[in-house]
Amino acid sequence: MNVTLRKITKIPLDFKLKFDEINFKGFLEYHSGKLILLNAYMSGFIEKQCDVCAEEFKLPVDEEIKFFLSDGIYEDADNLELEVVESLDGNVDMEEVLASEIELIKCDYHSCENCK
Ligand SMILES: [Zn+2]
Repeated sequence: MNVTLRKITKIPLDFKLKFDEINFKGFLEYHSGKLILLNAYMSGFIEKQCDVCAEEFKLPVDEEIKFFLSDGIYEDADNLELEVVESLDGNVDMEEVLASEIELIKCDYHSCENCK
């Protein structure tokens, strides 16, 4: 799902994606200036290697994801309460957003049930 940021208005644009065992659903909504709010919920399971015993296990995921997307470079990010992700071509690929959120979780330290 590819979204053109300048087409997003105050009327929330719903989206719903699935990747393996992860569901990603939420909406995009115009905030102000170049900013679009992404407000989503990610739930399901991610296949991950345990950081202790290296066994593959299913990590349960249940997370709220909230950040701003900027249509172009955003210079005033320090004054915002949310993180800003800049889009340089004015588009956002929701599959890519989801893939990078999954990567972020995979990079965190997690151990399987046996190692807890
Ligand atoms: Zn383990």
